[in-house]
Amino acid sequence: MTDKLYMGNEAIALGAVNAGVKIVAGYPGTPSTEVIETILRQKKPDINVQWSVNEKAAMEIAAGACYAGARSLVTMKQVGLNVAADPLMSLAYIGVKGGLVMLVADDPGPWSSQTEQDTRGFAKNANLPVYDPASPEEAYEMTREAFSLSEEFALPVFVRPTTRVCHASASIDIPDARETAKEAPCFEKRPEWCIFPALSYKKHGELEIKQKQLSDKFSESRFNTIEGNSRKGIAVSGVSYLYAKEVIKEYGLDVTLFKVGTPYPLPEKKAEEFFSKVDSVLVIEELDPIVEEGLLLINQGRVEIFGKRTGHTPCNGEFSCEIVKRAIFKYLGIEEQPETPAETPQFPVRPPVLCPGCPHRASFYAAKVAMKDEKKVVYCGDIGCYTLGNAAPLNATDTCLCMGAGITIAQGLQLAEEGIKTISFIGDSSFFASGITGIINAVYQKTKITLVVLDNHTTAMTGHQPHPGTGFTAMGEPTKALDIETLLRACGMEYVKKVNPFDFEATVEAIRGAKNFDGPAAVITEAPCVFKAPKPVSTHRVNDACIGCLKCIKEIGCPAMTPDENGKAVINEALCTSCGLCAGICPVGAIKEVSR
Ligand code: SF4
Ligand code: SF4
Repeated sequence: MTDKLYMGNEAIALGAVNAGVKIVAGYPGTPSTEVIETILRQKKPDINVQWSVNEKAAMEIAAGACYAGARSLVTMKQVGLNVAADPLMSLAYIGVKGGLVMLVADDPGPWSSQTEQDTRGFAKNANLPVYDPASPEEAYEMTREAFSLSEEFALPVFVRPTTRVCHASASIDIPDARETAKEAPCFEKRPEWCIFPALSYKKHGELEIKQKQLSDKFSESRFNTIEGNSRKGIAVSGVSYLYAKEVIKEYGLDVTLFKVGTPYPLPEKKAEEFFSKVDSVLVIEELDPIVEEGLLLINQGRVEIFGKRTGHTPCNGEFSCEIVKRAIFKYLGIEEQPETPAETPQFPVRPPVLCPGCPHRASFYAAKVAMKDEKKVVYCGDIGCYTLGNAAPLNATDTCLCMGAGITIAQGLQLAEEGIKTISFIGDSSFFASGITGIINAVYQKTKITLVVLDNHTTAMTGHQPHPGTGFTAMGEPTKALDIETLLRACGMEYVKKVNPFDFEATVEAIRGAKNFDGPAAVITEAPCVFKAPKPVSTHRVNDACIGCLKCIKEIGCPAMTPDENGKAVINEALCTSCGLCAGICPVGAIKEVSR
């Protein structure tokens, strides 16, 4: 037994390990990444773990393993589920043999995502059960249970924590005991493993029958509880349960609380029991009104239901105790006392920026210089650290839709508007995940694109996970490193140049060559992420020759540079990585490399 502080994602990981998971596959994405990293740290020789090339591949690998009977876990963030949706929807019909748990972490806020989509809605759409943990402790318990539920119903099962649950920590008793499989994985040939229209029709019918069975089972679940004896009811899902508990305790409120730990399928019998105890209900849940709509359907107008439709809770953003308190007070008709102004100091706003010495800054700057004579240039960005190229002064991201879209958005623009110039940026991990099909499309359709692959040899944004170009697997084993240049040529690109982005002249020249090339063309700007590069032995320093033009700051925005009280540039040597980009910009040569 270990009783210590666990982050929600660690608890989920250990829940899977203790449930006897054998195959783990995922693609990194905040707030889900630490689940796989925790399993890797366990170093269990009988668990095969991989960072797959993307979420679709991860889902299919987990599906294959489940067909053979192995318990499998697939992990991703909520937008990753869009990539994995194709296999997911068919898998809901086909079903599984070994338990398959899909850990999909949602990001209300959103803190680090392009959407606030609600995986509970996805579960409903796919007719698949979903657990919605309120705390790290519950995330552990739900993950363990999800595997047995998956096997009992032969269906993939979602566990959907939100950022607060993933990244909060709690003291949990986690036993060292692991479940062991009754038999070794063994794939048996069955007609059901092949999806055909006639089979889909039959399976869809069976899936609908299972919804009722699941709802009945969930009505008996320890994760769905009713507390209190008031005629005023509150139904609450996910982490909002803890906020509601806190508000109820602090203000001594008399309500009946229906905690919904399995929002889909809604535990109907439990909901009926709740309705029999109350005259009205306030529903509190982040993002979409999944529980609210479910309760409305069961209720059939018997009791009044308040929630998002009535404006008691917001439809977007992350909740807090304050938001939940306001909703409950409004519902109970309690007049709010004016808040005593907080005495906490105002913290300065710190928007995210590329790190000092980041090679992407050099690539963006070179691209802007290479394109400066063009009348109209659209910078088509992508998902990763380099999305931060949108910030001033670089302003090098005009579009950003989803992973891989920078390459294909550019093609749409080229087709639509005559004379437009585009430049598409993609990182190395995203290139493997979602970039290659867009490149093939450009070559096939003869659409001229200028592509810059920002290759820093890692998945930097999520904490330096390996990918097919790194030469090693998630389990640390050496493997073949796929070469981006070779792949680009194999895709039919005839102009492919590889440069070091800190070789400014060569990079500008290569990008200029690419944009003037008559056909799709690519430049790979290759330099390690500053966190993976050797520690710098030198720094850069501004000398007395500085004339205070601040060109160095205004053009590249390196966070290591600021103006001093005399309006001259100064470099914070603790932050400077000595990349030299600023030195090349100074018109009077006032920035010099010096040893540390
Ligand atoms: S570009 Fe050179 S002269 Fe201008 S502020 Fe920076 S260091 Fe000083
Ligand atoms: S050399 Fe200049 S651009 Fe590079 S990290 Fe140092 S201050 Fe920033």
